[in-house]
Amino acid sequence: MKTLIQHGRIISASDDYVADILIDGELISAIGKDLAVNAEQTIDASGMLIFPGGIDPHVHLEMPFMGTFSSDTYETGTRAALYGGTTTVIDFILQKQGNSLRAALDEWSGRATGNAVGDYSFHMAVTDFNDSTKGEIKEMIDEGITSFKTFMAYKGALMIDDRQMIGLMEEVKQQGGIVTVHATNGDMIDYLVQKNVSEGKRAPIYHYLSQPEVTEAEASERFADMTNYTECPGYIVHLTCEGALNAVRNATRRNQKVFVETCIQYLVLDASLYEQDFDGAKWVMSPPLREKKDQATLWAGINQGLVQVVGTDHCPFTWEQKQMGKDDFSKIPNGHPAIEHRMELLFSEGVNKGKISLNKYVEVTSTNAAKIFGMFPKKGTISVGGDADIVILDPSVKHTISAKTHHMNTDYSGYEGWDLSGKVKSVLLRGKVVIDDNKCLVEKGYGQFVKRKKVSGII
Ligand SMILES: [Zn+2]
Repeated sequence: MKTLIQHGRIISASDDYVADILIDGELISAIGKDLAVNAEQTIDASGMLIFPGGIDPHVHLEMPFMGTFSSDTYETGTRAALYGGTTTVIDFILQKQGNSLRAALDEWSGRATGNAVGDYSFHMAVTDFNDSTKGEIKEMIDEGITSFKTFMAYKGALMIDDRQMIGLMEEVKQQGGIVTVHATNGDMIDYLVQKNVSEGKRAPIYHYLSQPEVTEAEASERFADMTNYTECPGYIVHLTCEGALNAVRNATRRNQKVFVETCIQYLVLDASLYEQDFDGAKWVMSPPLREKKDQATLWAGINQGLVQVVGTDHCPFTWEQKQMGKDDFSKIPNGHPAIEHRMELLFSEGVNKGKISLNKYVEVTSTNAAKIFGMFPKKGTISVGGDADIVILDPSVKHTISAKTHHMNTDYSGYEGWDLSGKVKSVLLRGKVVIDDNKCLVEKGYGQFVKRKKVSGII
């Protein structure tokens, strides 16, 4: 089937022009001015902005946690993502300490296969690096899982020590992958959490006060040093603050490149939200929200090219699940819902308010993630031969975020009542219109696993 999108303003990471896009099957087959072709389906995109489908490389769907699961399934989470213009997500497989990477992959594939509505891929979180795990790295890369997540926090569950980190980096470098990191100093945080809890300081604000900026800055610096030593490509997930970004800036002084992702919440929300009673639990996540000066750092970092990606760390829980920590902040499930609103929030708060350009917007919501994680140019841009993953956004529509109207499987929003300018009108995924005028037109099972290429650490 052929689809023709006419007269839209096409924005890529480098271009901005009005043209028609011809789609044949799942792929873009031609782009040009006033294309004279017959298509079964024609979409008039006059006055609309056209972006490559969004890529959110940091989500947690149906993640097992504290005896429960994050509340979006692959079906509800990837569908909500599509509503907001994100056509591909990368979720995290968590190896269980003592078990193999293969066992974890099988578990996660079992939940995703046949259930995802939008496209997805996986990072592999290595929580137990030993000789047998080492032997599985190449196997995972052959499966198309080319990024390996590490935790410098959560000792006894997810954390690996620096010895394991170096060993993993050497193997991943050799096999053509990238190591990503949750860069916070776990021991410092564990100390502060225990101290606050034992002193009876148990409100959500103590979650924030137990993870001061230095815990992230120190770990980011250490990670940069270790990737420099091993020459393994490195990527810091959910970087939030000035001190951590300065660690990356320092690395550039010795000509090192460390990739950086921040998340939409760190750009638009700040720690004053914790200054209320238990309601602050809505924004309990790790790292926590930071200060206004950190927001300024992150916007500047995007424009300076130090921050390449804006993700979400989408890890939703219902308000009832959040009550697990009613009397103790350390028991509040960490995470907040954002998969649906990343693209529209960044457009409204970033592009419309003059903080980033349209081209930069495409870079950080799609193109850079595709390049860093081995999906480019199949994903992440609008080009002939690439997947027809396309967002048509109407910049003139204003709308309001609310849990009553969002599509994520949770009963609150961290952005309730926010007025946004610019709304996703239609979304195509591999050539098919999947969202149109706020209706989802495909069923679960439409989403496909994206097998990723080896990565080089250059983009
Ligand atoms: Zn995460």
